[in-house]
Amino acid sequence: MALCYIGIGSNLSNPAKQIQRAIDQLKQHDMFTVNAVSSLYCSQPMGPQDQPDYMNAVACIDTSLSPVALLDALQMIEKNAGRVRKGDRWGARILDLDILLYDLDVINTERLVVPHYGMKDREFVLIPLAEIAPTLILPCQSSVASLAKSIDKNALTIHSQLS
Ligand code: ATP
Ligand code: MG
Ligand code: MG
Repeated sequence: MALCYIGIGSNLSNPAKQIQRAIDQLKQHDMFTVNAVSSLYCSQPMGPQDQPDYMNAVACIDTSLSPVALLDALQMIEKNAGRVRKGDRWGARILDLDILLYDLDVINTERLVVPHYGMKDREFVLIPLAEIAPTLILPCQSSVASLAKSIDKNALTIHSQLS
């Protein structure tokens, strides 16, 4: 079993509902056990600013899937939610599921970079992650709690609790 953290984001078609549905699908999936889910956060868009605000959360799961099979399963959930990849980086999307961590593995392939390359610079990842994993140390030896404490909050707020 691998202990994994998944970053979840949405800014289209009722983002709060999309994120709760994604968590429900993680819970229903045969190959995942969901151990913890953060609060639901409201965040400002990264990159292009002419798009709606985002909702974000982080989930902790156990899985016996390999990293690539996990990515396939997450991309299937994104597709089922209606995500269409348009090639515009950081543009509006109905659902984004990113692998933040896969145990303490370090993966650098064309399809998969783990730990997620942007996680240390994103308040909407670090703060929900620190909420559910306050003692976690990254493979680079950084403490998630310290990173979360020092990052600019960029108007990140807790919106509600997820179930
Ligand atoms: P960002 O990666 O900056 O958060 P994004 O999530 O919008 O942007 P996507 O369009 O969802 O990017 O994914 C683009 C590609 O990133 C995917 O097809 C996938 O192969 C690759 N990728 C690399 N590392 C990861 C990872 N850790 N989790 C999810 N996808 C990844
Ligand atoms: Mg992403
Ligand atoms: Mg993604």
